[in-house]
Amino acid sequence: MDTGMKTIGLIGGMSWESTAEYYRILNERTRERLGGLHSARCVLHSVDFAEIEQLQVQGRWAEAGEVLAGAARSLEAAGADLLLICTNTMHKVADSVEAATSVPLLHLADATADAVRAAGLHRVGLLGTAFTMEQDFYRGRLAAGGLDVRVPNSEGRALVHRVIYEELCLGIVRDESRAAYRRVVEDLVAGGAEGVILGCTEIELLIGPEDSPVPVFPTARLHAEAAVDAALAQHAD
Ligand code: GLU
Repeated sequence: MDTGMKTIGLIGGMSWESTAEYYRILNERTRERLGGLHSARCVLHSVDFAEIEQLQVQGRWAEAGEVLAGAARSLEAAGADLLLICTNTMHKVADSVEAATSVPLLHLADATADAVRAAGLHRVGLLGTAFTMEQDFYRGRLAAGGLDVRVPNSEGRALVHRVIYEELCLGIVRDESRAAYRRVVEDLVAGGAEGVILGCTEIELLIGPEDSPVPVFPTARLHAEAAVDAALAQHAD
């Protein structure tokens, strides 16, 4: 039987710890939507994160963009009908990915802003890498989506960033780091945040709704679910 599901192309591996979650969520959402043995039509191009991380710290974003553009082209050749960059941070080079193919990109900040608005919220805290919290490529997109975005103070940002690269991207989940993240979330809420965006795809491996007094928005989950919904847009339930 043909469900009419489009093929989702994943640019992953940044890190693979969260890409594995994408794969699981895509399939769970597809089963939820279609039932039975249905699973997600998808193709994955997974990069070596060590190479990308070096380009990030050296500020060689154009080269990182070329790597991701190459991944996008390979996914187009493999039959992808829509593309996901499975990391918030690397949306810094979303333009290069979009220019590389004619396959539409489902932007993670748009899927996130949609979810926050659907929850009726406006003022949100943002946790992510320093690139995501401090630069405009992601915050600006959220602001264009109607959100008032707050980030932790410099000490909080350094802590959140360090735990991402030194622990979560290596599959290390520590109670001490969870407690530290909870304190950062509490500060954001004390500053007026009505919700908190987990704006790095590994953060939802560490904290969840139970760690926050306000709603949290897990971006890997939101992105993967939005992708299935887009892939099934032509499907009649
Ligand atoms: N996965 C992370 C994110 O969503 C960080 C790793 C990266 O630098 O891509 O931002």
